Amino acid sequence: MANFNDRENRKKEVIGIIGAGISGLLACKYCITKGFDPIVFESESSIGGVWTKTIGSTKLQTRKNLYQFSDFPWPDSVIESFPDQQTVMDYIESYARHFDLLKYIQFHSKVLSLSYEDGDDGAGEWNSWDQVFSGKGKWSVTVQDTLTLSTQVYQVDFVVVCVGKFSQVPNIPEFPPNKGPETFEGQVIHSMDYSKMDSKSASNFVKGKQVAIVGFQKSGMDIAMECSTVNGVERPCAVVIRTPHWNLPDFFPWGLFSLGYLYQSRFAELMRWAFSKYVESYIKHKNRLAKHGMVPEHSFLNELSSCSANILPEGFYNRVEEGSIKLIKKAESFGFSKEGILLEGQSEPIKSDLVILATGFNGIDKLKSIFKAPKYQKFIAGSDDSGTVSLYRECIHPRIPQLAVIGFSQTTANLYTSEIRCRWLAELLDGKFKVPNTKMMEKDIKEWDKYKKRYSYKKYYRRSCITPLHIWHNDQLCKDMGWNPKRKKGFWAEWFEPYGPMDYTG
Ligand SMILES: Cc1cc2nc3c(=O)[nH]c(=O)nc-3n(C[C@H](O)[C@H](O)[C@H](O)COP(=O)(O)OP(=O)(O)OC[C@H]3O[C@@H](n4cnc5c(N)ncnc54)[C@H](O)[C@@H]3O)c2cc1C
Repeated sequence: MANFNDRENRKKEVIGIIGAGISGLLACKYCITKGFDPIVFESESSIGGVWTKTIGSTKLQTRKNLYQFSDFPWPDSVIESFPDQQTVMDYIESYARHFDLLKYIQFHSKVLSLSYEDGDDGAGEWNSWDQVFSGKGKWSVTVQDTLTLSTQVYQVDFVVVCVGKFSQVPNIPEFPPNKGPETFEGQVIHSMDYSKMDSKSASNFVKGKQVAIVGFQKSGMDIAMECSTVNGVERPCAVVIRTPHWNLPDFFPWGLFSLGYLYQSRFAELMRWAFSKYVESYIKHKNRLAKHGMVPEHSFLNELSSCSANILPEGFYNRVEEGSIKLIKKAESFGFSKEGILLEGQSEPIKSDLVILATGFNGIDKLKSIFKAPKYQKFIAGSDDSGTVSLYRECIHPRIPQLAVIGFSQTTANLYTSEIRCRWLAELLDGKFKVPNTKMMEKDIKEWDKYKKRYSYKKYYRRSCITPLHIWHNDQLCKDMGWNPKRKKGFWAEWFEPYGPMDYTG
């Protein structure tokens, strides 16, 4: 491994990294360890990505032992298992300082477009990843200084796209004519606008208003909790729900085993279905789902395999029972009237002053729009409209040269997922192994797709989610890198102990 500070042995190829969230920082760190001097383009003024602006009450959803850098554990001073946003930010910042990453980052630098210059601007064929730096082409990265609005074009040998999935491009439903937000006399915002406010401004914003929230994923539930704290039973917060979900009350179903043992061990990967039923019975009981008519039609395994299982905010159903949160279920589609939200098939609107669309983000559009050539846009977005990106080892597209995407395909512990992929990528860039030819990679992607679809909830197969196959996926990355995929000591530990970031330190 090249010495971090050994200037003479630095590699000449330029790596451009887009984004300085967790994925971009990891990509930067592992490129440096291989002797590259990357340039990280970050559109904002700080590192941390999604963690820079969250709803005030947001905490880590994953236990912190699973959400940590393999060579930089959480400090002992952080005792809670699910640290809050500021604590996560402090941790990410201390990681960047510890590995001296900040000097590689250009802040206020928004990448407007990427175009592959091989003499025909992406129109020609590029067939092989046989040589990562083929010497044939370079990427032109058009970057806008967000302060001066001036642009500059950088030529780089390889691009790592780490733009994240949960920001910037909101997913706004389409409305029939005269049924859109323009009809409504109140105010409509997206949850990302709410997240940008500090806690005090957010409280003042919703105070005294009749609030309706559309969406029952993490941000929808968190905002509902905050609204109900501010407005109480006098002005209940309405939550419009299309699909009930299996939201976990805690990490210890029936108090026996932690979820880690049930989902993050090799044995658990074989026992998915049985463990799923066990967890379902607990969630149903603890959240009193039957009483609230909130038992999902799909299984917990489907939920987990779609990366849509969330931790329920503490006391959520108590708020429902006291009347400060009102659940409005099974709304397939909705529009607006003058007075509020109008659900399909209903004549009376949900009268509101403020509607918050907690309808998620359109990550695929964000990713696609960064490519200049339609050909690459098409490759990246795929053709089956599932919103997934077809990547070999969830990192590179067989037909897009000299480029990787990190952080798009998800698990329930995304930091360590991004970390092992960045290590894999760094080894590939360093020439430590080769990937198979285009056809073989495409075949492998198809096989993986089959497994991913087998378990996920069809309606929600919009995410590249590998949760039920996480260890298996890591096994493949390890084998490529020439590591032993069996990371534990002894038979018992190998099969029954949960896997986590610290198993992949060496
Ligand atoms: C509220 C919230 C809570 C979460 N909690 C968890 C959790 O508990 N556990 C878990 O595993 N995952 C969680 N996640 C998922 C989370 O997205 C990942 O854990 C991880 O932080 C993603 O990091 P990233 O670097 O891939 O993307 P991001 O954090 O989105 O970072 C992307 C970066 O790219 C920059 N960027 C984007 N476009 C451009 C451009 N064109 N030019 C330049 N820069 C650009 C952005 O400004 C940003 O800094 C959570 C997500 C959210 C939104």
